[in-house]
Amino acid sequence: MTEPQVVRDSAPKQPLVVMEGVNKHFGALHVLKDINLTVGKGEVVILIGPSGSGKSTLCRTINRLETYESGSITIDGQKLPEEGKALADLRADVGMVFQSFNLFAHKTILENVTLGPIKVRKMNKADADKRAMELLERVGIAHQAAKYPAQLSGGQQQRVAIARSLAMDPKVMLFDEPTSALDPEMINEVLDVMVELANSGMTMVVVTHEMGFARKVADRVVFLADGQIVEMATPEEFFTNPKSDRAKDFLGKIL
Ligand code: ADP
Ligand code: MG
Repeated sequence: MTEPQVVRDSAPKQPLVVMEGVNKHFGALHVLKDINLTVGKGEVVILIGPSGSGKSTLCRTINRLETYESGSITIDGQKLPEEGKALADLRADVGMVFQSFNLFAHKTILENVTLGPIKVRKMNKADADKRAMELLERVGIAHQAAKYPAQLSGGQQQRVAIARSLAMDPKVMLFDEPTSALDPEMINEVLDVMVELANSGMTMVVVTHEMGFARKVADRVVFLADGQIVEMATPEEFFTNPKSDRAKDFLGKIL
């Protein structure tokens, strides 16, 4: 009789985001080349690669901020809609946090978080306020709810941006270099929120250069170069034994 084996996290999870044969050009530039990527429910995928390799574009195709010419993308079994209400609904299911926080400057922190649920999810104000305060509590900003974005630090604003996305109850959260615009002392307060989110079971796709964070939370690391997925591995495998020259070269420069 063979001993039961412990297999680290390669068991197939229920697929949530499925990209198959996705190609995209910007004019003559072939920016996404035959991308095949499945993100399982509850999985945390870290997307890394050199500047200009297509990481942001890949993220943006997942919620159709960018179109693509061929291939298919499904979220929770649903094909990405092209336009209209179906697209707005899809965008509500796919939260996105960018490098720049993009909060509404003339709305309070609380209003920034309740706007989507009230407008898109048709939640009543009392419920939206209650839920927003819970989320602001979760990211450590509840005491600042009545302030305006400019009164908060960059790290605090980014935590509000995360709470704002979560308020829509997204199925998946995309993060595109969420700490790149922050002063160094504010990076960890945002990463801590993201670690907590990962531990809570949120499905996440994260573009980041924070390799300590990647090692800690990633189920898988996807290495992109020149618009192609060059490697896909556990963080352990990727960081200790990168296979391609391009990944070795990249890691040599950043680690
Ligand atoms: P990354 O996020 O990995 O730095 P991007 O996805 O932003 O890479 O960009 C990939 C490539 O596509 C780069 O060469 C970039 O200059 C180009 N690119 C990105 N956005 C556009 C656009 N809107 N129009 C034309 N080229 C673009
Ligand atoms: Mg980018």
